[in-house]
Amino acid sequence: MLIVGNWKAYVESQLKAKALFATAKRLSAQHDTEIVLAVPTPYLGLLSPSNRSKVAFAAQNISAGTGGAATGEVTAALLKELGVTYTLVGHSERRALGETDEMVSDKVRHAHANQIIPIVCVGEKERDPDAHYLQLLRAQIHAVFEPLAQKERQQTILAYEPIWAIGKTASEAMSPRDLTEMTLYIRKVLGEYLPGRSALKVKLLYGGSVEPSNIRSLAEGTGVDGFLPGHASADSDIFSALVKALK
Ligand code: PEP
Repeated sequence: MLIVGNWKAYVESQLKAKALFATAKRLSAQHDTEIVLAVPTPYLGLLSPSNRSKVAFAAQNISAGTGGAATGEVTAALLKELGVTYTLVGHSERRALGETDEMVSDKVRHAHANQIIPIVCVGEKERDPDAHYLQLLRAQIHAVFEPLAQKERQQTILAYEPIWAIGKTASEAMSPRDLTEMTLYIRKVLGEYLPGRSALKVKLLYGGSVEPSNIRSLAEGTGVDGFLPGHASADSDIFSALVKALK
């Protein structure tokens, strides 16, 4: 299993960042779970260069461009230099700021072109009785996968994060049964872009109020390859409990 801890902007001190990183290193030495930390950009410079552990780093966002006159942007080349392996793309909190499917697609292609693995977030804001949200999901996946080469499609990681389930508590997260239905649907859509069984090999994560009390049931038999926890990854004790609960 893969756990990508999205610290978002919860971690606002170097001391806390270092403590969380130490916890992640200890956990990765003790457990088989693959741990990735998606941290604010300044912490990449602080933590990643001295990293000798199995913990990998993700950026929370990536520029679609290659540098130059682009104030505030962080390019793939710089992320690469900082030792980044993955990047989140299209998180709902960035889509809420105006990131479109087209921009997400550009960023995904830019990440691949620079050997950074994109973790693309998709998910509906709400569920309507006529299930139009399934079409929205399909459109989000299409925008990303359609322009990619086969090898890039295979390497792209998808994080299914229903927006209505984000930032709440375990009791309001998606149920294992609904998650199973969604992973089947998403893999069916992926089958349009990847031949045969290769759609089954795309790594699929779930995110949305994953906590120590529900991670195990969301992992068992639902078809996910891991999780993208937000708030539960920004506290050392809770993150430890998450990883331990997955054992
Ligand atoms: C997220 O926003 O990626 C997320 C899953 O957040 P939380 O775990 O806090 O719901």
